[in-house]
Amino acid sequence: MARTKIKANPYQQYEDALRRKQTELFESYERDKAAGNAQPDDGIQDLADKAASAYSKELNFSLSDGERNLLMQIEEAFARLKNETYGTCTNCGATIGDKRLSAVPWTPYCIDCQELQEKGLLG
Ligand SMILES: [Zn+2]
Repeated sequence: MARTKIKANPYQQYEDALRRKQTELFESYERDKAAGNAQPDDGIQDLADKAASAYSKELNFSLSDGERNLLMQIEEAFARLKNETYGTCTNCGATIGDKRLSAVPWTPYCIDCQELQEKGLLG
């Protein structure tokens, strides 16, 4: 693959972490599928294709609610990386600390808004 010059990404480590987590989720899904008697794949899909079809019925059926939510949050985090809003709380616009991003790189909220969200106080 040709190397293209890209500008330094201050969130590279989080992007890597997101990708690892996403891969992990897909792999556990693949394992579950292999363990069960699911229909064989039409062919080998690459991760991007799988991400694109992450909400397919089959995947929805195999993943737990928590895993599905996580995948969705990861994809949203990738979208924020793309439009350069990553690291900023989607609710109040505060900067999300490095510590928090290291622990939960897919989080859309700062710690305060996360608490509100958990209490069901976020719209
Ligand atoms: Zn916030």
